Amino acid sequence: MHRVLIHPASYDTCRSAIDRAFEIFPQEIARKKVVIKPNVLRLSTAEEHIVTNPSLLRAVVEKVEEMSPAEIVVGDNPGLFSYGDNEKSFEKTGLMDAAKGYYMNIGNTTQNLAFNPDFMPEVGISKEILDADIVISLPKFKTHGLTAMTGAIKNSYGILPGAQKARLHRIAGTPERFHDVIVEVFRLRVPDLFIMDAVVGMEGNGPASPDLREIGLILAADNGVALDGVVARMMGLDPARLRFLQKAKAMGLGDFDSQMIQIDGEMRIIADFKVPPLGGEAISGNPAIQELMKTKTEVRPQADPELCTACGACIDHCPVSALTMKEDFPVVDADICITCFCCQEICPEKAMTLK
Ligand code: SF4
Ligand code: SF4
Repeated sequence: MHRVLIHPASYDTCRSAIDRAFEIFPQEIARKKVVIKPNVLRLSTAEEHIVTNPSLLRAVVEKVEEMSPAEIVVGDNPGLFSYGDNEKSFEKTGLMDAAKGYYMNIGNTTQNLAFNPDFMPEVGISKEILDADIVISLPKFKTHGLTAMTGAIKNSYGILPGAQKARLHRIAGTPERFHDVIVEVFRLRVPDLFIMDAVVGMEGNGPASPDLREIGLILAADNGVALDGVVARMMGLDPARLRFLQKAKAMGLGDFDSQMIQIDGEMRIIADFKVPPLGGEAISGNPAIQELMKTKTEVRPQADPELCTACGACIDHCPVSALTMKEDFPVVDADICITCFCCQEICPEKAMTLK
């Protein structure tokens, strides 16, 4: 039986939720090396709520400090192509300050591990993560165009430094296979504790959507599959139809079945929560629908002419060169596009929408 904590919180009062999380999921931290990994998708401000809020990070760092660890490291590998901006991403989001001097660019040193050869024979993982006695993951309650939601399991994709993220997107080639990839990465070093920022969540075209939602909660668990299962239900999704959760359960990484999860707190489905158009469920549902999605109706990114400034970042960062600038406007070639949504993640104007 898994347990998931659902605790009311604001950013000013999140410490009581953190204390409760450590009570329910005790960690032997004294004289250990602890790595705390927020979700730092890219350069953004805390107010955009694209990343884990700095107040939550600070509260977790202060809690861990009190437990006499040998060493604390705070780090992440920002999404896809912001890897050259690791320090800047932490600074702009306020996470550098919240890390209280424990920040480290964990992308600087890697160690190769064997990977699923269907994708790549091996991948390089941040060595700090592999050397940690305890890994504490701080995901954000958000939607994601490719996986419907991003939470505990997807946050571990950030243990991959550098261009590997984009390379794996390209090698995966389809949304279905990308679901498998994120579970393969997650299982390389399953975190010991997850504390999720759901004080302000994100709906709509996540993971960098302007549609924010006041939820007022912090969730915690020591099993990422159970936590993501609860988050999926809160978003109005059926976790049994999300391929990455199916795969994680099949691999023995945990269970999302509500019969297998004890909730500490109150679980409620968020009314009218907007999931992304692709909505993950279609990926793992009826094969005929999957085929239709692939051949006729597959969602493609499309720039909004009202918001696009023709900066070209999406074109530079598309892993398969599916975007070209035509008369100062990025246009996607639907035949080349692998629907990785990297362009949507990277667009500083939030101009890339899913059509
Ligand atoms: S990154 Fe955004 S603003 Fe820049 S060209 Fe692409 S769609 Fe336009
Ligand atoms: S156009 Fe966007 S979604 Fe399509 S492959 Fe390029 S980056 Fe990915």
